[in-house]
Amino acid sequence: MNAPDHRRLALLFDIDGTLIITGGAGARSWRLAFDELYGIPADIGKFTDTGMTDPDVGRKTFEAVMGRKPERQEFARLLERRLHYLHQTVSESEHYRVLPGVEALLTGLVDDGCLVGLITGNLEAAAHIKLHRAGLNRFFSFGGYGSDSNDRAEVTRIALRRGSVVYGEELTPDRCLVLGDTPHDVAGAHAAGVPCVGVASHNFNSAQLAEAKADWVIESFEDGLPKEALE
Ligand SMILES: [Mg+2]
Repeated sequence: MNAPDHRRLALLFDIDGTLIITGGAGARSWRLAFDELYGIPADIGKFTDTGMTDPDVGRKTFEAVMGRKPERQEFARLLERRLHYLHQTVSESEHYRVLPGVEALLTGLVDDGCLVGLITGNLEAAAHIKLHRAGLNRFFSFGGYGSDSNDRAEVTRIALRRGSVVYGEELTPDRCLVLGDTPHDVAGAHAAGVPCVGVASHNFNSAQLAEAKADWVIESFEDGLPKEALE
């Protein structure tokens, strides 16, 4: 049987607050890394905001708590320790969960022949550590990550190039769709010419995502995606 012919070839998902909630595992891993290296249990929430990429979070938090920029070696060690602790904080997190409807949606998209990727501010390794606990990595054979660029539009363009390589078909922005839970996701998608579905499942409500000019807004993935978004 041939798969239905979707006009959208590829769907690109944000991770935190869209696919999963780690229950603070990300922030805890940074705190443990700063504590081990400098004896300072740094709270990234005080110095950074949710739209920042991991490299930006690390640098800004370092500058805030140490009062200077990190040396190259210090930054390399910080990122290594942070990924080390992220394995632990994700596996220990009591409030880690997959958001409603995610697994069924991803399974259905793949069955329908949709290409599924990631767009995230996480370092590539951090993205995969976070998704591993829920067994979700298997759905995503390409993506754009915070380790590719600090600019979400560029992260999006990089993801499309990678998807094109993986699938041997050009992914033009108009045949893709970004799904994210914050105004940053909407802005990043639009800056790369890709429409965006806002998912009001976590930090932002429908009105805020509509205000941010999301092309469609849904409460969760439980009822699937708006049909028009896939056409
Ligand atoms: Mg998010």
